[in-house]
Amino acid sequence: MIYEPVIGLEVHIQLLTDSKIFCSCSTKFGAQPNSQVCPVCLGMPGVLPVLNKKVIEFGLKLAIATNCKINTRSIIARKNYFYPDLPKGYQISQYEEPFCEFGHVEIQVEGQDSKTIGLTRIHMEEDAGKSMHSESYVSQNESLVDINRCGVPLLEIVSEPDFRSANQVGAYLIRMRQIVRYLGICDGNMEEGSMRCDANISVRPKGQKELGVKTELKNMNSISAVEKALDYEINRQISVLEDGGIIQQQTLLWDANKNVVEPMRSKEFAHDYRYFPEPDLVPIIITEEWIEHTRTNMPELPLAKKQRFMSEYNLPEYDANVLTDDPALADYFENVAKMVKDKKAASNWVMGEVLRALKEKNCTINEIKVSSDFLADIIQLIEEDKISVKIGKRVFDDCLNSGHAPNKIIEQKGLLQISDAAEIDVIVDDVLKNNPNEVKLYLQGKEKLMGFFVGQIMRATQGKANPKTVNDMLKKKLNEKN
Ligand SMILES: [Zn+2]
Repeated sequence: MIYEPVIGLEVHIQLLTDSKIFCSCSTKFGAQPNSQVCPVCLGMPGVLPVLNKKVIEFGLKLAIATNCKINTRSIIARKNYFYPDLPKGYQISQYEEPFCEFGHVEIQVEGQDSKTIGLTRIHMEEDAGKSMHSESYVSQNESLVDINRCGVPLLEIVSEPDFRSANQVGAYLIRMRQIVRYLGICDGNMEEGSMRCDANISVRPKGQKELGVKTELKNMNSISAVEKALDYEINRQISVLEDGGIIQQQTLLWDANKNVVEPMRSKEFAHDYRYFPEPDLVPIIITEEWIEHTRTNMPELPLAKKQRFMSEYNLPEYDANVLTDDPALADYFENVAKMVKDKKAASNWVMGEVLRALKEKNCTINEIKVSSDFLADIIQLIEEDKISVKIGKRVFDDCLNSGHAPNKIIEQKGLLQISDAAEIDVIVDDVLKNNPNEVKLYLQGKEKLMGFFVGQIMRATQGKANPKTVNDMLKKKLNEKN
């Protein structure tokens, strides 16, 4: 029997607003515990929340980018549950009438056709606080609560159960991360928890319409962890069914150290949230003008940028994919490409040297010492035959470490290419004179020795001789000897 997995996702993204969703407390990450709190986010009695307009602005951008239907009137709801990191005893969220629904995004798994993933809804809500167990200032068998994160704005993106493999989920998360980064609404960092993902997963015999019993998977802190956890859970469910067992509906936590899923204690998981409309907040009204204004001010999105890179710079699809993965990298490439003649060379340099350097230096594209202007300088010097590609790479490495301008490096280290025929003429003569045996063998037909002569000349000039001039001159002089 062949089984087919059916997976749906809930992705939470933390919005990059300066203040919280219902009060003016800062959202800055990494502050002292409980230093960014006020009576509203502490859930004191008698306080009134006020909705941060920026949250709706950001939500509208995401709704448009994911082709959602925007509801001009939506309702804010109370989700009731008790947990130590939730001082109010309820979370303000949206339930029956979210601000947007019925969207879709395109995903692409390498080597497969692109696939459309449906979005059920996107709604806004507030984050809860954080229980601290393992920090150094928490003693054993004790838990402390940090309320700083309480009230940080989130968007929850709920997908249809359209995924049929862990790979597709990975591709979707990459696409979603790309979209929120392009929109500038979230940093998309799963490792730091600003983008989180829970999955609902079941398996069924291929061809069967009814869904199997699903489990919920939580606690996956990277895209690769999500893929690993899903593959594990798919295989676990299949082997339970093959052994004649039944799947239990439960919530599972991924343990990235042991590479297994563990059931969550059922007590931590309440099913009845007793949602009702939040009495302290009026319905959200989004005008058509507001939607139109957002639509006309949308930044270019990843797929559109990729298409444009292919047509405007004549790049292969592979290059366009790599270069548009991150908006800052795309900007960097575009700055370089605008200044040089050979756009493909610009792409090769960014995909090769620049990406390698980012890994090596463990820095971001905005921090790298070889600015886009500097890289353009290097490529221009190669295009003008002032340095060879090989010297160009040396200049790049120097610039990467020192941050000095390429022109300055070339001047200081005397790296300018020797294109002067008279100067090269002398060196070629020298090399031929000092290697009479090789010259003899070459004239007898051992043409491979051409490489040897070029090597000698390059060594004599520390790689600075113009290779084309060297080759032309060598051929001419050797022919004359014939
Ligand atoms: Zn507050």
